[in-house]
Amino acid sequence: MQDFIINADFPKSEIEFDLQFLNPDACYDYLFALKWPHGFVCKKCKNENYWISKRQLYICTVCEHQHSLTAGTIMDSSKKPITYWFKAMWWFTTRKSGVNAVNLQELLGFGSYDTAWHWLQKLRRCTIRKNREKLSGRVEVDEFVIGGQRAGKRGRGAEAKTIVAAAVERCDEKKQIGRIRLQVILDYSAYSLETFITENIQPGSNIATDSWSSYTSILKEQYHHVPTNQSKVGKDHDSLYGVHLVASLVKRLVRGTFQGRFEPKYLQNYLDEYVFRFNRRKSKYIGKKFMRIVQQVVESSKIKWDQIKWDLDPISEYLSLELSG
Ligand SMILES: [Zn+2]
Repeated sequence: MQDFIINADFPKSEIEFDLQFLNPDACYDYLFALKWPHGFVCKKCKNENYWISKRQLYICTVCEHQHSLTAGTIMDSSKKPITYWFKAMWWFTTRKSGVNAVNLQELLGFGSYDTAWHWLQKLRRCTIRKNREKLSGRVEVDEFVIGGQRAGKRGRGAEAKTIVAAAVERCDEKKQIGRIRLQVILDYSAYSLETFITENIQPGSNIATDSWSSYTSILKEQYHHVPTNQSKVGKDHDSLYGVHLVASLVKRLVRGTFQGRFEPKYLQNYLDEYVFRFNRRKSKYIGKKFMRIVQQVVESSKIKWDQIKWDLDPISEYLSLELSG
């Protein structure tokens, strides 16, 4: 994935959005500009000239390779007009708490709730940018549990509890909260925590946790530990205030979102959306978030309906093999 270009054009308000994306051509032009910020380049032969077919394919004038702005992305095979996808991306990114499937179904006039639900799950999968910068400075790390009844399995004791690892930057003198990361982890093993920390936090950072003794020596070599004093509580004394606050916000979100029908396999999608929104909460222009999503959608891979959930079981099996072997 190429680096995000921050100076690209984006609508500054909903009025501007509506004026700019009235028709499909305007939407395709925007996708084009984000996919090829320096102009068209053939994927196969690097030629820079193309012509556009009636089916909105960009065809290389030399090797005739066909390029599509939607095929191979999450919009692949969608029968809805591209303008609907743009409106969905606009609402998804610019509404303060996002949009749920019922809202989206109503707003776009879909006959099917399922379509709206799947669109949102697909968009959530586009909120995380590959190779994003790791957290740095002073970072608070903690784990918390989200639990509830698993849908449709009453009476079988299928209480679905899921562990979430959280990392929160609190680096400046006022200890304001910076960027965050949230990840479903399978257990409290050193392997799970080490993977979470090394994937999300820059080596050399100061890590504050309340259970440092359980961390591996590899982590102890790469990071500095900030001792915490959990005997004092309250905003001014809780040295893990940031991560504790984020944990409580996420728990509230989950209660509101799943309404008692908690499904662990979809949790990571919601966490990803939450992180996307949280890390851009101070963004001056709402349209920047929209541009970011459109760019990540144009770079995305096709997701089949049955791939929308996070398949946790194979990882779980792999992990238990790792740990026993
Ligand atoms: Zn070519």
